[in-house]
Amino acid sequence: MKNVFLPNSIEEFRQIWSAVPDAVLMAGGTDLLVSLREGKTKVKNIISLERISELRHIDCSGGEILIGSLVTHQQILDAPIIAEALPVLRQAASLLGSPAVRHMGTIGGNICTASPAADLLPALYLLDARLELHTERTKRTVPITDFIIGPRQTSLSEGEFLYRIRVPIPVPNTRAYYFKVGQRKALAITIASMAALLRLDTDMTVLEGRFSWGSVGPTVLRFPETEKILQNQKLSEPLLKEIGEKSARLTEPISDIQASADYRRMLVSNFPLRLLQAEKYTGSNGKK
Ligand SMILES: Cc1cc2nc3c(=O)[nH]c(=O)nc-3n(C[C@H](O)[C@H](O)[C@H](O)COP(=O)(O)OP(=O)(O)OC[C@H]3O[C@@H](n4cnc5c(N)ncnc54)[C@H](O)[C@@H]3O)c2cc1C
Repeated sequence: MKNVFLPNSIEEFRQIWSAVPDAVLMAGGTDLLVSLREGKTKVKNIISLERISELRHIDCSGGEILIGSLVTHQQILDAPIIAEALPVLRQAASLLGSPAVRHMGTIGGNICTASPAADLLPALYLLDARLELHTERTKRTVPITDFIIGPRQTSLSEGEFLYRIRVPIPVPNTRAYYFKVGQRKALAITIASMAALLRLDTDMTVLEGRFSWGSVGPTVLRFPETEKILQNQKLSEPLLKEIGEKSARLTEPISDIQASADYRRMLVSNFPLRLLQAEKYTGSNGKK
């Protein structure tokens, strides 16, 4: 028998949590309930966040998009401000799970599960997202790279929860893409993924390039040294091939039931080449 608490506000939530500090938080439950059913998580008390409407908002302020931890993947798909300012996050949400999972599952749950295969993480790493973590008395903001410290491990301390996600809006004329390979087109666990952001001059010179890699290491990975290679170079097939090959050497994939480590490295080598096609399709002159 489990006790499930359903606070209606942040204040009520804080009161309940200080009374039952051993409780586990539940957002949409799409990860937690599976883990409970498989016996991987054992808990007596659950606090469901689902009625706390304060955590369900998407706002824009001071050059950032502020996304409440309880915002569902479907809300990300439906929000015009996300389509306008962070289309790569929208694209990642569109490839996550099934309609039912997208309606139940939340961005906060996707982050706190901290799976290297989680679909929203490459976009959030790419966009330098920061996370607002609250306890009853304290608030701190940390880069997502410092929050996720290993497979299914976060730096959340006792009594701390994810309040919202702050994502800086990329400068104009920036385009970003998310590519995912799974065993099927839908409802597929990511075998490997890449999110990429490009800011190009009118003659295809790269002003800025960023890449993040999913499911090829203990966490989502970024390689700043490799990203620097692109700067002030013309976007070309050999350049993207070099980025792919150098990144593949830096990844730390495992072999599992989904795919071998070698196959994952091969995907990383080849992913950047997809950008040429994507750029051709989108237009190379900074217009969307
Ligand atoms: C059939 C199926 C298909 C799926 N497909 C995909 C897929 O394609 N891509 C993908 O990335 N994922 C997929 N998932 C996994 C899952 O749906 C996502 O990770 C989802 O975003 C989890 O969100 P949730 O709200 O359901 O999290 P929950 O299950 O509620 O919580 C997950 C974890 O996060 C913690 N947590 C939640 N919110 C907070 C908070 N605010 N503060 C602190 N801790 C918190 C919980 O305690 C728990 O440990 C799938 C799951 C299922 C069942």
